[in-house]
Amino acid sequence: MTQHILVLNSGSSSIKFQVLDLQAENPDEPFLSGLVEQIGESRGHIRIVTENNTIEDRRPILSHSVGLERAFGMMSMLGVGPQDLDVHAVGHRVVQGGSIFNEPVLINEQVKDEIRGLIPLAPLHNPANLDGIENAQSLLPDVPHVAVFDTAFFHSLPESAARYAINRDVADQYHIRRYGAHGTSHKYVSQLVPELIGKKPEDVNQITLHLGNGASASAIRGGKAVDTSMGLTPLAGLVMGTRTGDIDPSVIFHLAREAKMSIDEIDTLLNRQSGLKGLCGVNDFRLLQELINEGEQDAKDAYDIYVHRVRQYVGSYMLDLGRLDAITFTAGVGENHVGIRRDTMANLENFGIKVDDARNNNEAGVKGARVISTDDSAVKVLVVPTNEELAIARAAAALADA
Ligand code: AMP
Repeated sequence: MTQHILVLNSGSSSIKFQVLDLQAENPDEPFLSGLVEQIGESRGHIRIVTENNTIEDRRPILSHSVGLERAFGMMSMLGVGPQDLDVHAVGHRVVQGGSIFNEPVLINEQVKDEIRGLIPLAPLHNPANLDGIENAQSLLPDVPHVAVFDTAFFHSLPESAARYAINRDVADQYHIRRYGAHGTSHKYVSQLVPELIGKKPEDVNQITLHLGNGASASAIRGGKAVDTSMGLTPLAGLVMGTRTGDIDPSVIFHLAREAKMSIDEIDTLLNRQSGLKGLCGVNDFRLLQELINEGEQDAKDAYDIYVHRVRQYVGSYMLDLGRLDAITFTAGVGENHVGIRRDTMANLENFGIKVDDARNNNEAGVKGARVISTDDSAVKVLVVPTNEELAIARAAAALADA
């Protein structure tokens, strides 16, 4: 028995996808993964990877629909096209679900209209997500398509965390509130924690740290998110690869008035030319580490600013939760960077948080999720690999079968 689910993540110039077999022994390992990138550029790139084969195509890709159709054709050449695989459902990652979507939904015309209506809140992402939905629907019209929203997990935020202290009428008219992001990852990871620490889900107060190129922190009480660092958009909160995270909004007025920068220029500066990249020239943590090792002061400062911000959020969420059971690291940096886990958790013994060096270094070579705190640490510290695709695939299968 197989149950193949296609998971699509359509961005502004790329489409990432995976086919997962939910009946396989290891459903978290994709049966197939694909990438369509450099759409609309002079040279395109499509790569399909299966267990035994990797094939690539470097012809220009005129549009998302051309890219997806060509990728499906390449899959068929390998005998693993969507028709060969009898795809059961398609799960689509959608970045912004606004105040409308608090869980995954089967996509129909009304859902598409609502995702379209949310474009002002996610002008870069929702159009690409919608395009991905329409292209996939036209290529696979007889299969259920499901939208899984990055924001949905944060519908449970209390008003005190979700509402900004900005004029209420303006906020309501323009739908300004904290929507969060990376919700699929925070939910997936946090749901694995209770069993790993031997507690009932409803009893666990936890902080999840999704530290990847984008980064966010969440406070979760009994399975429900009560605060998160991302805001109206994924620009808020922690320092990220190229995004500022929190800054005083007056920086924007100051740049407009003093540097005569346009709104679009400031948008680009804060979203693409800031964060680690803006501080020291690189956004990849591996390169950052190399610069630190070479003695580059800017890189060391960038690292310290990053660590300082993570600690600020952990501290604030500890107070918010009152009692804390677990802190979990996930995503590219959180799962792989020993130093970040050590330094963000340093000197917190007085708060019941003690990381074990050997466990943090994974000297035992544990694959997958693991506890890295000492046995006597009141708060358990964990590394739990995230898998947004698996979470999306499960949600799509559940709705397709409902
Ligand atoms: P993500 O957005 O979750 O894919 O994370 C991507 C980021 O994780 C990259 O930009 C790297 O900075 C970081 N990363 C990935 N692998 C490693 C590693 N082995 N050591 C340190 N950082 C890593």
